[in-house]
Amino acid sequence: MRSFTYARAADPASAVEQMALNKDAKIIAGGTNLLDLMKIDVMHPQHLIDITRTSLNKVETTAAGGLWLGALVTNADTAYHHEVETRYPLLSHAILAGATAQLRNKATDGGNLLQRTRCYYFYDKATPCNKREPGSGCSAIAGFNRIHAILGTSEHCIATHPSDMAVALSALDATVHVTGPSGERAIALTDFHRLPGDTPHLDTNLNEEELITAIELPAKGFATNYTYLKVRDRASYAFALVSVAVGLEQEAGTIKEARIALGGVAHKPWRDKEAEALLTNQPATTENFRKVAEKIVADAKGYGHNTFKIELAKRSIVRALQQALEMEATS
Ligand code: SF4
Repeated sequence: MRSFTYARAADPASAVEQMALNKDAKIIAGGTNLLDLMKIDVMHPQHLIDITRTSLNKVETTAAGGLWLGALVTNADTAYHHEVETRYPLLSHAILAGATAQLRNKATDGGNLLQRTRCYYFYDKATPCNKREPGSGCSAIAGFNRIHAILGTSEHCIATHPSDMAVALSALDATVHVTGPSGERAIALTDFHRLPGDTPHLDTNLNEEELITAIELPAKGFATNYTYLKVRDRASYAFALVSVAVGLEQEAGTIKEARIALGGVAHKPWRDKEAEALLTNQPATTENFRKVAEKIVADAKGYGHNTFKIELAKRSIVRALQQALEMEATS
């Protein structure tokens, strides 16, 4: 392991100051992904800024009736928080579908959004990877790509974002609050993560020297008709091959609003608002669900080992919509 310096920040402002003073600095909180990557020398920050003693650990109701999740709130505390369980059960279910109890106890909400891809080649320093070493090539495109993306890919990278939590937050239209040298700003969760394009080394639109302070949930939580469907190779401690977060608002079998976000298929949680709009004021039928699924994956591209994901995604979308719809009927 390479040597690095370490300092605690007393508050977000001093963390931002430290980032400005130290090139190649990284924020550390739970450290559940960063420390793994440092141990294998995939990431090698020269300075770590520990923010665990700052006050970014609050859960509060907002003036707009939503919920404010401080960046340091752990994934477990979020999933089991009464307000999340009752008003945003989609988020609770998505978090509990990921990782393990031990990891969820340690991992923070801010860190969850910043975790890196689980592409095997990104972790294998013996192979080319544009995300790890820009310009070196992508080993996955012509390699073993069973877990890789089918939507929004580029000739430079076909990695997926691994978070379950982010998929639910995308469906819920959450907002990410950040602070940096230029002050505070808010980024829609749907705009927070990037597609790979020709800069796959950049996962998010967070600027250097910026720090996530909170995630804000809007008042609408789709607590009656929702589901998080995660399809994976084993029943626990596995990343999604395809996941679907659905929130529905319906009246007597007619869809008033549908939110559909996909995980495991792209470099970011995947939303297609035009496809969602196809369901507005339409009967909640399997035929209509299938039409929406076809639209969402219309531009999907398989790379061989992962081509099965195209049909899997369609079927998962239809099943997730049915599951969300049937919740009220059975409750
Ligand atoms: Fe690297 Fe992306 Fe290619 Fe994986 S898919 S090898 S992360 S460039």
